Amino acid sequence: MQIYLDNAATTRISPAALRAMLPCLEEHYGNPSSLYAFGQDARERLERARAQIAARLHCEAKEVYFTSGGSEADNQALRSAARIGAAKGKRHIVSTAFEHHAVLHTLDRLREEGFEVTLLDVHGDGLVRPAEVAAAIRPDTCLVSVMYANNEIGTIQPVAEIGRICREKGVLFHTDAVQAAGHLPIDVQEQNIDLLSLSAHKFHGPRGAGVLYARTGVRLTPLIEGGAQERGRRAGTENLPAIVGMAAALEEACRDGDARRVRVAALRDRLIRGLARIPHAVLNGDPVQRLPGNVNFCFEGIEGESLLLLLDDEGICASSGSACTSGSLDPSHVLLAIGRPHEIAHGSLRLTLSEQTTEEEIDYTIDAVTRAVARLRSMSPVWRDLQSGARPFVIQ
Ligand SMILES: *Cc1c(COP(=O)(O)O)cnc(C)c1O
Repeated sequence: MQIYLDNAATTRISPAALRAMLPCLEEHYGNPSSLYAFGQDARERLERARAQIAARLHCEAKEVYFTSGGSEADNQALRSAARIGAAKGKRHIVSTAFEHHAVLHTLDRLREEGFEVTLLDVHGDGLVRPAEVAAAIRPDTCLVSVMYANNEIGTIQPVAEIGRICREKGVLFHTDAVQAAGHLPIDVQEQNIDLLSLSAHKFHGPRGAGVLYARTGVRLTPLIEGGAQERGRRAGTENLPAIVGMAAALEEACRDGDARRVRVAALRDRLIRGLARIPHAVLNGDPVQRLPGNVNFCFEGIEGESLLLLLDDEGICASSGSACTSGSLDPSHVLLAIGRPHEIAHGSLRLTLSEQTTEEEIDYTIDAVTRAVARLRSMSPVWRDLQSGARPFVIQ
């Protein structure tokens, strides 16, 4: 048996996406830049996918730029906004401490290049306060970047409100919507979003395709120089099969979106209730302002990595919440940002559900996690100290 509960890391491709992709690999393999009819057929498919995605984001097709994924879109969004700002003498950027590394590491580079970055604290509930965003904006601020939904703890940020503040103050607003796209409604008009990143493989599309939405008038800086693809903003022959698959996957994910969200959230809450029965366990992130498929717990007195290994033995694919830090002893920057102490942040578990998750899988997982935590604690010297009172519990 295999139970896949790591859908925030990547997802299984949907049959609809795969069906849309195969003809582009087998028959319609022309280059969209070629002038003969075979190439123009590929171009039509490309532009159809662009229009389909634009309709889902509530923007114009020419505001949709295809990238290789979420990381590239984040990099390009930040670098473009920084360049626009620098041209006006504005070199200050506001973001948050719990962004994805694609944002945080780009900000590190921009800092080295002379930009000043204010990283807002995230509150214990995993939510950014719009008033604090407003207070951090200065006359020389060129960009605010706040993620739509966090990839570790699933908290959904008040992006429309933050967008409104940025619009009022004349500051560009970027949101990393990689975890939100296909899972939550997106309307870049209503939400006042100037730049938005998404990635196909997080909503049952293929790996290696993403979108950077850039509002008309926000001039993108190419990260890759070469041909004139993507209106001269992103060189390289378009990955047509993946792009067409992405459009189909987004279409499918958005269809019956409300019903899907309700169904997945009910399973999520069943899992949360089950895991909350484990003593000295705490849910990370707000229980309500939360992605329908995200569950993230800290268990006192254990190591997240050991827990993952035991769950793997039971056929459960999970994450310790810090996706890219396997092999490092650093606890998750997200859990530290919401104020969890180091020793607690080490004992974290992220389980992320999909449309395909079943109630049987959830019940099996509750049982497996409960047993695994008990087993690890029975072998843990830290747990012995907690039990004897030699060390106080952090999680009551
Ligand atoms: C996965 C992810 C990314 C990176 O997307 P890729 O397509 O894998 O490059 C960026 N931001 C968030 C929030 C993510 O979850």
